[in-house]
Amino acid sequence: MKKKKTISLKSPKLRKIRNNLRMLLLEWGTKQLNELFDARDMIERNVEGKIKLDHELASGDIEKIDNLSAQITEIRKIKNASICKCTVCGAPDRDMTYNPIVKEWFCVDCYKLNQDFYKDTDQAYLYP
Ligand SMILES: [Zn+2]
Repeated sequence: MKKKKTISLKSPKLRKIRNNLRMLLLEWGTKQLNELFDARDMIERNVEGKIKLDHELASGDIEKIDNLSAQITEIRKIKNASICKCTVCGAPDRDMTYNPIVKEWFCVDCYKLNQDFYKDTDQAYLYP
């Protein structure tokens, strides 16, 4: 998305549906992350829960760990860029504004706070 955009819902019923869908998506993302963390822990930690030393890792383990870490990073990036929660306060139940400069969604209140904060600075362009 290239333009600033605010998505607001007035209907309480639609707001409830939107919020429930956001919560489902966020929970799904958290579940995916937890599965990836568990899979990575199974490879990189010993029975005491400590990170294995290099010589304790089996052949191919480093590649598996790197692959799982890359998947974790990607899901975190998707979650952070999604409209499901405010990038500042984490609220999942608010009307959201997309900031095309930082490419993230903010709740309307956090966007306004940032916009006011930067208004008279040389970084005002960050919050159009
Ligand atoms: Zn917020």
